[in-house]
Amino acid sequence: MRMGFLGAAGEVTGSCTLVETGGTRFLIDCGMFQGGPEARSKNLRALNFGFDVREIAFVLLTHAHIDHSGLLPRLAILGYRGPVFATPATIDLLEVLLPDSAHIQEKEAEWQLRHRRRRGRGERGIPAPLYTVAQAQATLQLLKPAAYGQTLQVAETVQVRFHDAGHILGSSWLEVTVSGEGRPRRLVFSGDLGMPNRPVLRDPEKVVAEADVLLIESTYGDRQHRSLPETEDEIVAAFERTRAAHGNLVIPSFAVGRTQEIIYLLADLVRRKRLSPLKVYVDSPMANEATRITLAHPELLDSETRELIAWLRAHPEKMKLEFVADVDRSKALNEIRSGAVIISASGMCEAGRIKYHLRENLPRSECSILIAGFQAAGTLGRRLVDGARLVNIFGEPVPVRARIYTVGGLSAHADQGALLGWLRGFHKAPGHTFVVHGEAAASGNFAKAIQDELGWRTVHLPRIGEYFDL
Ligand SMILES: [Zn+2]
Repeated sequence: MRMGFLGAAGEVTGSCTLVETGGTRFLIDCGMFQGGPEARSKNLRALNFGFDVREIAFVLLTHAHIDHSGLLPRLAILGYRGPVFATPATIDLLEVLLPDSAHIQEKEAEWQLRHRRRRGRGERGIPAPLYTVAQAQATLQLLKPAAYGQTLQVAETVQVRFHDAGHILGSSWLEVTVSGEGRPRRLVFSGDLGMPNRPVLRDPEKVVAEADVLLIESTYGDRQHRSLPETEDEIVAAFERTRAAHGNLVIPSFAVGRTQEIIYLLADLVRRKRLSPLKVYVDSPMANEATRITLAHPELLDSETRELIAWLRAHPEKMKLEFVADVDRSKALNEIRSGAVIISASGMCEAGRIKYHLRENLPRSECSILIAGFQAAGTLGRRLVDGARLVNIFGEPVPVRARIYTVGGLSAHADQGALLGWLRGFHKAPGHTFVVHGEAAASGNFAKAIQDELGWRTVHLPRIGEYFDL
Protein backbone atom coordinates (compact mmCIF):
# COMPACT_ATOMS: atom_id res chain seq x y z
CA MET A 1 0.00 0.00 0.00
CA ARG A 2 1.16 3.49 -0.80
CA MET A 3 -0.06 6.74 0.69
CA GLY A 4 0.60 10.24 -0.66
CA PHE A 5 0.27 13.43 1.38
CA LEU A 6 -0.84 16.03 -1.14
CA GLY A 7 -1.97 18.81 1.19
CA ALA A 8 -2.47 19.85 4.83
CA ALA A 9 1.03 18.57 5.64
CA GLY A 10 2.88 21.21 7.65
CA GLU A 11 -0.12 23.54 7.19
CA VAL A 12 -3.85 23.58 7.84
CA THR A 13 -5.36 23.83 4.36
CA GLY A 14 -5.47 21.78 1.17
CA SER A 15 -6.37 18.46 2.82
CA CYS A 16 -5.92 15.65 0.30
CA THR A 17 -4.53 12.12 0.79
CA LEU A 18 -4.06 9.56 -1.97
CA VAL A 19 -4.23 5.84 -1.14
CA GLU A 20 -3.13 3.16 -3.60
CA THR A 21 -3.79 -0.43 -2.61
CA GLY A 22 -4.34 -3.65 -4.55
CA GLY A 23 -4.76 -1.77 -7.81
CA THR A 24 -7.36 0.66 -6.39
CA ARG A 25 -6.67 4.37 -6.04
CA PHE A 26 -8.79 6.70 -3.92
CA LEU A 27 -8.68 10.10 -2.27
CA ILE A 28 -9.59 11.26 1.19
CA ASP A 29 -10.67 14.91 0.89
CA CYS A 30 -9.87 17.25 -1.97
CA GLY A 31 -9.37 20.59 -0.27
CA MET A 32 -8.43 24.03 -1.41
CA PHE A 33 -5.26 25.78 -0.21
CA GLN A 34 -6.28 29.04 1.45
CA GLY A 35 -4.45 32.13 2.73
CA GLY A 36 -1.03 33.46 1.84
CA PRO A 37 0.33 34.58 -1.50
CA GLU A 38 1.14 31.06 -2.73
CA ALA A 39 -2.34 29.62 -2.29
CA ARG A 40 -3.34 30.23 -5.88
CA SER A 41 -0.32 28.59 -7.46
CA LYS A 42 -0.63 25.66 -5.03
CA ASN A 43 -4.26 25.18 -6.07
CA LEU A 44 -3.26 25.22 -9.72
CA ARG A 45 -0.45 22.71 -9.16
CA ALA A 46 -2.57 20.44 -6.94
CA LEU A 47 -4.13 17.28 -8.39
CA ASN A 48 -1.14 16.63 -10.64
CA PHE A 49 -0.96 13.01 -9.64
CA GLY A 50 1.15 11.82 -12.53
CA PHE A 51 -1.77 9.70 -13.76
CA ASP A 52 -5.19 10.35 -15.23
CA VAL A 53 -7.71 11.40 -12.54
CA ARG A 54 -10.16 8.94 -14.11
CA GLU A 55 -8.04 6.20 -12.53
CA ILE A 56 -9.27 7.35 -9.10
CA ALA A 57 -12.03 4.93 -8.06
CA PHE A 58 -13.77 7.15 -5.50
CA VAL A 59 -13.34 10.07 -3.12
CA LEU A 60 -14.22 10.05 0.59
CA LEU A 61 -15.04 13.45 2.05
CA THR A 62 -14.67 14.06 5.80
CA HIS A 63 -16.62 17.35 5.90
CA ALA A 64 -17.83 20.38 3.98
CA HIS A 65 -15.19 22.99 4.87
CA ILE A 66 -13.63 24.37 1.68
CA ASP A 67 -10.10 23.47 2.81
CA HIS A 68 -11.29 19.83 2.64
CA SER A 69 -13.70 20.01 -0.31
CA GLY A 70 -12.88 23.11 -2.36
CA LEU A 71 -10.90 21.44 -5.17
CA LEU A 72 -13.57 18.86 -6.02
CA PRO A 73 -14.74 21.01 -8.96
CA ARG A 74 -11.12 21.06 -10.23
CA LEU A 75 -11.05 17.28 -10.06
CA ALA A 76 -14.28 17.19 -12.07
CA ILE A 77 -12.87 19.65 -14.63
CA LEU A 78 -9.87 17.33 -15.04
CA GLY A 79 -12.29 14.53 -15.97
CA TYR A 80 -13.17 12.77 -12.72
CA ARG A 81 -16.71 11.33 -12.86
CA GLY A 82 -16.62 8.82 -9.98
CA PRO A 83 -18.54 9.00 -6.71
CA VAL A 84 -17.72 11.35 -3.84
CA PHE A 85 -19.05 9.83 -0.62
CA ALA A 86 -20.11 12.23 2.16
CA THR A 87 -22.74 12.40 4.90
CA PRO A 88 -26.17 13.84 3.96
CA ALA A 89 -25.57 16.99 6.07
CA THR A 90 -22.19 17.51 4.37
CA ILE A 91 -23.94 17.26 0.99
CA ASP A 92 -26.54 19.85 2.09
CA LEU A 93 -23.76 22.24 3.15
CA LEU A 94 -21.75 21.67 -0.04
CA GLU A 95 -24.78 22.62 -2.14
CA VAL A 96 -24.35 26.09 -0.62
CA LEU A 97 -20.58 26.24 -0.02
CA LEU A 98 -19.16 25.06 -3.36
CA PRO A 99 -21.22 27.44 -5.55
CA ASP A 100 -20.41 30.22 -3.06
CA SER A 101 -16.67 29.46 -3.33
CA ALA A 102 -16.99 29.73 -7.13
CA HIS A 103 -19.03 32.94 -6.82
CA ILE A 104 -16.34 34.57 -4.65
CA GLN A 105 -13.69 33.64 -7.25
CA GLU A 106 -15.78 34.99 -10.14
CA LYS A 107 -16.34 38.27 -8.26
CA GLU A 108 -12.63 38.55 -7.48
CA ALA A 109 -11.75 38.07 -11.17
CA GLU A 110 -14.34 40.70 -12.21
CA TRP A 111 -12.93 43.14 -9.66
CA GLN A 112 -9.38 42.59 -10.95
CA LEU A 113 -10.60 43.21 -14.49
CA ARG A 114 -12.30 46.50 -13.58
CA HIS A 115 -9.28 47.55 -11.54
CA ARG A 116 -6.93 46.95 -14.49
CA ARG A 117 -9.18 48.71 -16.96
CA ARG A 118 -9.39 51.76 -14.70
CA ARG A 119 -5.62 51.89 -14.70
CA GLY A 120 -5.56 51.57 -18.48
CA ARG A 121 -3.91 48.17 -18.38
CA GLY A 122 -4.71 45.16 -20.53
CA GLU A 123 -6.59 42.09 -19.44
CA ARG A 124 -3.66 39.71 -19.68
CA GLY A 125 -2.50 37.96 -16.55
CA ILE A 126 -5.80 38.26 -14.69
CA PRO A 127 -6.22 35.09 -12.69
CA ALA A 128 -9.24 33.16 -13.94
CA PRO A 129 -11.45 31.57 -11.27
CA LEU A 130 -10.34 28.03 -10.39
CA TYR A 131 -13.89 27.09 -11.37
CA THR A 132 -17.19 28.74 -12.16
CA VAL A 133 -20.53 28.53 -10.38
CA ALA A 134 -21.79 26.23 -13.17
CA GLN A 135 -18.79 23.91 -12.74
CA ALA A 136 -19.30 23.84 -8.96
CA GLN A 137 -22.94 22.97 -9.49
CA ALA A 138 -22.07 20.17 -11.93
CA THR A 139 -19.70 18.70 -9.30
CA LEU A 140 -22.57 18.36 -6.82
CA GLN A 141 -23.98 15.57 -9.03
CA LEU A 142 -21.04 13.35 -7.98
CA LEU A 143 -21.96 13.43 -4.26
CA LYS A 144 -23.31 10.19 -2.81
CA PRO A 145 -24.76 9.99 0.72
CA ALA A 146 -23.08 7.89 3.40
CA ALA A 147 -24.87 7.60 6.75
CA TYR A 148 -22.97 7.51 10.04
CA GLY A 149 -22.30 4.01 11.30
CA GLN A 150 -23.19 2.23 8.08
CA THR A 151 -20.55 0.03 6.38
CA LEU A 152 -20.27 0.86 2.69
CA GLN A 153 -18.55 -1.37 0.17
CA VAL A 154 -17.03 1.37 -1.99
CA ALA A 155 -14.81 -0.91 -4.09
CA GLU A 156 -14.31 -4.65 -4.30
CA THR A 157 -11.50 -4.49 -1.75
CA VAL A 158 -12.41 -1.34 0.21
CA GLN A 159 -15.03 -0.73 2.92
CA VAL A 160 -15.66 2.54 4.72
CA ARG A 161 -17.62 3.65 7.73
CA PHE A 162 -18.30 7.31 8.62
CA HIS A 163 -18.33 8.35 12.30
CA ASP A 164 -19.42 11.69 13.82
CA ALA A 165 -16.36 13.94 14.34
CA GLY A 166 -18.27 16.70 16.21
CA HIS A 167 -16.44 19.45 14.27
CA ILE A 168 -19.14 20.98 12.03
CA LEU A 169 -22.53 19.67 10.98
CA GLY A 170 -22.07 16.38 9.12
CA SER A 171 -18.34 16.15 9.88
CA SER A 172 -16.80 12.69 10.04
CA TRP A 173 -13.79 10.65 10.90
CA LEU A 174 -13.37 7.64 8.68
CA GLU A 175 -12.66 4.00 9.29
CA VAL A 176 -11.47 2.39 6.05
CA THR A 177 -10.73 -1.33 5.65
CA VAL A 178 -8.62 -2.39 2.66
CA SER A 179 -8.12 -6.02 1.71
CA GLY A 180 -6.42 -5.89 -1.67
CA GLU A 181 -2.97 -6.92 -0.43
CA GLY A 182 -2.75 -9.84 2.00
CA ARG A 183 -4.43 -9.45 5.37
CA PRO A 184 -7.10 -6.72 5.67
CA ARG A 185 -5.79 -3.49 7.10
CA ARG A 186 -7.65 -0.75 8.92
CA LEU A 187 -6.94 2.92 8.20
CA VAL A 188 -8.35 5.72 10.37
CA PHE A 189 -8.59 9.31 9.11
CA SER A 190 -9.51 11.80 11.84
CA GLY A 191 -10.63 14.57 9.46
CA ASP A 192 -11.10 17.61 11.72
CA LEU A 193 -12.13 16.71 15.26
CA GLY A 194 -14.41 18.87 17.41
CA MET A 195 -14.03 19.82 21.04
CA PRO A 196 -16.05 17.59 23.40
CA ASN A 197 -18.60 19.12 25.82
CA ARG A 198 -19.32 22.08 23.57
CA PRO A 199 -22.77 23.26 22.55
CA VAL A 200 -24.77 22.45 19.43
CA LEU A 201 -23.02 19.37 18.02
CA ARG A 202 -22.58 15.96 19.53
CA ASP A 203 -19.15 15.05 20.88
CA PRO A 204 -16.71 13.28 18.54
CA GLU A 205 -17.50 9.59 18.47
CA LYS A 206 -14.93 7.40 20.24
CA VAL A 207 -12.29 5.83 18.08
CA VAL A 208 -12.13 2.14 17.13
CA ALA A 209 -9.86 -0.10 19.18
CA GLU A 210 -7.09 -0.66 16.66
CA ALA A 211 -5.67 0.73 13.44
CA ASP A 212 -2.78 -0.12 11.15
CA VAL A 213 -2.49 3.44 9.89
CA LEU A 214 -3.80 6.62 11.54
CA LEU A 215 -3.91 10.19 10.23
CA ILE A 216 -4.59 12.68 13.03
CA GLU A 217 -5.22 16.41 12.67
CA SER A 218 -3.21 18.81 14.85
CA THR A 219 -4.62 22.32 14.25
CA TYR A 220 -4.41 23.07 18.00
CA GLY A 221 -2.00 20.25 18.81
CA ASP A 222 0.15 22.60 20.89
CA ARG A 223 -2.60 24.46 22.79
CA GLN A 224 -5.34 24.16 25.38
CA HIS A 225 -8.54 26.16 24.85
CA ARG A 226 -9.95 28.40 27.53
CA SER A 227 -12.89 26.86 29.38
CA LEU A 228 -16.50 27.52 28.37
CA PRO A 229 -17.42 29.27 31.70
CA GLU A 230 -14.52 31.72 31.21
CA THR A 231 -15.71 32.41 27.68
CA GLU A 232 -19.25 33.04 28.95
CA ASP A 233 -17.92 35.53 31.53
CA GLU A 234 -16.14 37.41 28.74
CA ILE A 235 -19.30 37.54 26.64
CA VAL A 236 -21.40 38.78 29.58
CA ALA A 237 -18.83 41.51 30.33
CA ALA A 238 -18.96 42.74 26.72
CA PHE A 239 -22.77 42.85 26.77
CA GLU A 240 -22.97 44.69 30.11
CA ARG A 241 -20.49 47.33 29.04
CA THR A 242 -22.23 47.90 25.68
CA ARG A 243 -25.68 48.11 27.24
CA ALA A 244 -24.50 50.65 29.84
CA ALA A 245 -22.87 52.75 27.10
CA HIS A 246 -26.00 52.56 24.85
CA GLY A 247 -24.14 51.15 21.87
CA ASN A 248 -24.43 48.17 19.53
CA LEU A 249 -22.57 44.91 19.75
CA VAL A 250 -21.17 43.57 16.48
CA ILE A 251 -19.97 39.96 16.22
CA PRO A 252 -17.99 38.92 13.11
CA SER A 253 -18.59 35.22 12.72
CA PHE A 254 -17.96 32.30 10.38
CA ALA A 255 -21.27 31.46 8.76
CA VAL A 256 -21.10 27.69 9.22
CA GLY A 257 -20.81 26.42 12.77
CA ARG A 258 -19.64 29.46 14.69
CA THR A 259 -22.79 31.54 14.07
CA GLN A 260 -25.04 28.73 15.30
CA GLU A 261 -22.77 28.23 18.32
CA ILE A 262 -22.97 31.94 19.23
CA ILE A 263 -26.76 31.95 18.87
CA TYR A 264 -26.82 28.95 21.21
CA LEU A 265 -24.55 30.60 23.79
CA LEU A 266 -26.51 33.87 23.79
CA ALA A 267 -29.87 32.07 24.14
CA ASP A 268 -28.47 29.91 26.93
CA LEU A 269 -27.13 32.97 28.79
CA VAL A 270 -30.57 34.63 28.48
CA ARG A 271 -32.30 31.45 29.70
CA ARG A 272 -29.98 31.38 32.73
CA LYS A 273 -30.74 35.09 33.29
CA ARG A 274 -27.10 36.08 32.91
CA LEU A 275 -28.16 38.31 30.02
CA SER A 276 -31.40 40.30 29.74
CA PRO A 277 -33.68 39.62 26.74
CA LEU A 278 -31.99 40.33 23.42
CA LYS A 279 -32.72 41.41 19.89
CA VAL A 280 -30.25 39.63 17.60
CA TYR A 281 -29.82 40.23 13.87
CA VAL A 282 -28.08 37.53 11.86
CA ASP A 283 -26.98 39.39 8.75
CA SER A 284 -25.32 36.96 6.37
CA PRO A 285 -27.11 35.01 3.63
CA MET A 286 -24.64 32.15 4.10
CA ALA A 287 -25.17 32.06 7.88
CA ASN A 288 -28.94 32.00 7.32
CA GLU A 289 -28.57 29.05 4.96
CA ALA A 290 -26.22 27.24 7.34
CA THR A 291 -28.65 27.80 10.24
CA ARG A 292 -31.55 26.47 8.11
CA ILE A 293 -29.53 23.35 7.26
CA THR A 294 -28.56 22.89 10.93
CA LEU A 295 -32.22 23.03 12.01
CA ALA A 296 -33.08 20.56 9.24
CA HIS A 297 -30.80 17.98 10.92
CA PRO A 298 -32.03 17.84 14.55
CA GLU A 299 -30.73 14.25 14.73
CA LEU A 300 -27.16 15.59 14.63
CA LEU A 301 -27.59 18.09 17.48
CA ASP A 302 -26.83 17.31 21.10
CA SER A 303 -29.70 16.96 23.58
CA GLU A 304 -28.96 20.32 25.30
CA THR A 305 -29.37 22.11 21.98
CA ARG A 306 -32.66 20.39 21.18
CA GLU A 307 -33.90 21.45 24.64
CA LEU A 308 -32.76 25.03 24.13
CA ILE A 309 -34.47 25.24 20.73
CA ALA A 310 -37.72 24.07 22.38
CA TRP A 311 -37.28 26.71 25.11
CA LEU A 312 -36.67 29.46 22.53
CA ARG A 313 -39.81 28.45 20.63
CA ALA A 314 -41.81 28.61 23.89
CA HIS A 315 -40.35 32.01 24.87
CA PRO A 316 -39.91 33.98 21.64
CA GLU A 317 -39.92 37.27 23.56
CA LYS A 318 -36.67 36.38 25.38
CA MET A 319 -34.52 36.42 22.29
CA LYS A 320 -35.85 37.96 19.13
CA LEU A 321 -33.86 36.52 16.24
CA GLU A 322 -34.08 38.15 12.86
CA PHE A 323 -32.40 36.49 9.89
CA VAL A 324 -31.78 39.43 7.58
CA ALA A 325 -32.34 38.45 3.99
CA ASP A 326 -32.26 41.42 1.65
CA VAL A 327 -29.69 44.14 1.24
CA ASP A 328 -32.09 47.01 2.04
CA ARG A 329 -32.88 45.52 5.43
CA SER A 330 -29.16 45.00 6.02
CA LYS A 331 -28.51 48.67 5.24
CA ALA A 332 -31.35 49.70 7.55
CA LEU A 333 -29.44 48.12 10.45
CA ASN A 334 -26.93 50.94 10.06
CA GLU A 335 -29.60 53.33 11.40
CA ILE A 336 -29.84 51.52 14.74
CA ARG A 337 -27.80 53.43 17.31
CA SER A 338 -28.12 51.23 20.37
CA GLY A 339 -29.28 47.89 21.73
CA ALA A 340 -28.68 45.81 18.60
CA VAL A 341 -26.65 42.63 18.49
CA ILE A 342 -25.47 42.03 14.92
CA ILE A 343 -23.87 38.73 13.92
CA SER A 344 -22.41 38.90 10.42
CA ALA A 345 -19.82 37.28 8.14
CA SER A 346 -17.12 36.87 7.06
CA GLY A 347 -15.52 35.72 10.26
CA MET A 348 -12.20 37.48 9.60
CA CYS A 349 -13.92 40.71 8.42
CA GLU A 350 -12.38 40.43 4.96
CA ALA A 351 -15.58 40.27 2.91
CA GLY A 352 -19.36 40.37 3.15
CA ARG A 353 -21.81 42.51 5.09
CA ILE A 354 -19.70 42.63 8.26
CA LYS A 355 -17.58 45.33 6.62
CA TYR A 356 -20.56 47.73 6.49
CA HIS A 357 -21.39 47.09 10.14
CA LEU A 358 -17.79 47.70 11.16
CA ARG A 359 -17.65 50.93 9.15
CA GLU A 360 -20.73 52.19 11.05
CA ASN A 361 -19.90 50.96 14.52
CA LEU A 362 -16.10 51.05 14.84
CA PRO A 363 -15.88 54.87 15.11
CA ARG A 364 -18.40 54.94 18.00
CA SER A 365 -16.86 54.50 21.46
CA GLU A 366 -20.19 53.29 22.90
CA CYS A 367 -20.16 50.21 20.62
CA SER A 368 -18.32 46.92 21.02
CA ILE A 369 -16.93 44.33 18.66
CA LEU A 370 -16.82 40.77 19.95
CA ILE A 371 -14.26 38.62 18.16
CA ALA A 372 -14.88 34.94 18.70
CA GLY A 373 -12.93 33.20 15.95
CA PHE A 374 -9.43 32.63 14.64
CA GLN A 375 -8.08 35.71 12.80
CA ALA A 376 -5.33 34.98 10.28
CA ALA A 377 -2.36 37.33 9.88
CA GLY A 378 -3.03 40.12 7.39
CA THR A 379 -6.83 40.22 7.84
CA LEU A 380 -8.91 43.18 9.07
CA GLY A 381 -10.04 41.04 12.02
CA ARG A 382 -6.43 40.45 13.04
CA ARG A 383 -5.65 44.18 12.88
CA LEU A 384 -8.56 44.84 15.26
CA VAL A 385 -7.37 42.12 17.65
CA ASP A 386 -3.86 43.60 17.52
CA GLY A 387 -5.20 46.98 18.65
CA ALA A 388 -5.12 49.07 15.45
CA ARG A 389 -6.43 52.62 16.05
CA LEU A 390 -7.17 53.24 12.39
CA VAL A 391 -8.19 50.71 9.74
CA ASN A 392 -9.10 50.85 6.08
CA ILE A 393 -12.56 49.73 4.93
CA PHE A 394 -13.65 50.10 1.29
CA GLY A 395 -10.61 52.28 0.69
CA GLU A 396 -11.58 54.77 3.43
CA PRO A 397 -9.83 55.30 6.77
CA VAL A 398 -12.03 54.33 9.72
CA PRO A 399 -10.98 55.23 13.29
CA VAL A 400 -11.33 52.46 15.88
CA ARG A 401 -13.05 53.86 18.98
CA ALA A 402 -15.31 50.90 19.77
CA ARG A 403 -14.14 48.45 22.42
CA ILE A 404 -12.70 45.23 20.95
CA TYR A 405 -13.34 42.05 22.95
CA THR A 406 -11.55 38.84 22.02
CA VAL A 407 -13.08 35.68 23.47
CA GLY A 408 -10.82 32.68 23.38
CA GLY A 409 -12.84 29.61 24.24
CA LEU A 410 -14.82 28.95 21.07
CA SER A 411 -13.18 26.65 18.61
CA ALA A 412 -14.43 24.01 16.23
CA HIS A 413 -11.19 22.07 16.76
CA ALA A 414 -10.17 19.86 19.66
CA ASP A 415 -7.25 21.18 21.71
CA GLN A 416 -4.21 19.12 22.68
CA GLY A 417 -5.89 17.53 25.69
CA ALA A 418 -8.99 16.58 23.69
CA LEU A 419 -6.92 15.17 20.81
CA LEU A 420 -4.88 13.03 23.20
CA GLY A 421 -8.11 11.97 24.92
CA TRP A 422 -9.51 10.75 21.60
CA LEU A 423 -6.28 8.88 20.79
CA ARG A 424 -6.45 7.10 24.17
CA GLY A 425 -9.41 5.21 22.68
CA PHE A 426 -6.92 3.03 20.79
CA HIS A 427 -6.09 -0.05 22.83
CA LYS A 428 -2.61 -0.13 21.34
CA ALA A 429 -0.47 2.13 19.21
CA PRO A 430 -1.42 2.15 15.51
CA GLY A 431 1.25 0.66 13.23
CA HIS A 432 1.90 4.11 11.77
CA THR A 433 0.64 7.48 12.99
CA PHE A 434 0.82 10.51 10.69
CA VAL A 435 0.34 13.95 12.25
CA VAL A 436 -1.25 16.25 9.65
CA HIS A 437 -3.37 19.40 9.33
CA GLY A 438 -1.33 21.71 11.55
CA GLU A 439 1.27 24.43 11.16
CA ALA A 440 4.78 23.04 11.64
CA ALA A 441 5.06 24.02 15.33
CA ALA A 442 1.62 22.66 16.24
CA SER A 443 2.17 19.35 14.42
CA GLY A 444 5.71 18.96 15.78
CA ASN A 445 4.63 19.64 19.34
CA PHE A 446 1.71 17.27 19.03
CA ALA A 447 3.85 14.47 17.59
CA LYS A 448 6.12 14.85 20.62
CA ALA A 449 3.12 14.83 22.99
CA ILE A 450 1.92 11.57 21.39
CA GLN A 451 5.34 9.99 21.97
CA ASP A 452 5.71 11.35 25.52
CA GLU A 453 2.16 10.91 26.80
CA LEU A 454 1.03 7.78 24.95
CA GLY A 455 4.39 6.11 24.39
CA TRP A 456 3.71 5.57 20.68
CA ARG A 457 6.93 5.18 18.72
CA THR A 458 6.08 5.24 15.00
CA VAL A 459 4.90 8.83 14.60
CA HIS A 460 5.54 10.62 11.30
CA LEU A 461 5.39 14.28 10.28
CA PRO A 462 4.82 13.98 6.51
CA ARG A 463 5.90 16.76 4.18
CA ILE A 464 3.69 17.94 1.35
CA GLY A 465 4.11 15.71 -1.71
CA GLU A 466 5.71 12.92 0.32
CA TYR A 467 4.74 9.27 -0.32
CA PHE A 468 5.04 6.34 2.10
CA ASP A 469 5.05 2.63 1.30
CA LEU A 470 3.22 0.94 4.12
ZN1 LIG B 1 -12.82 21.83 9.13
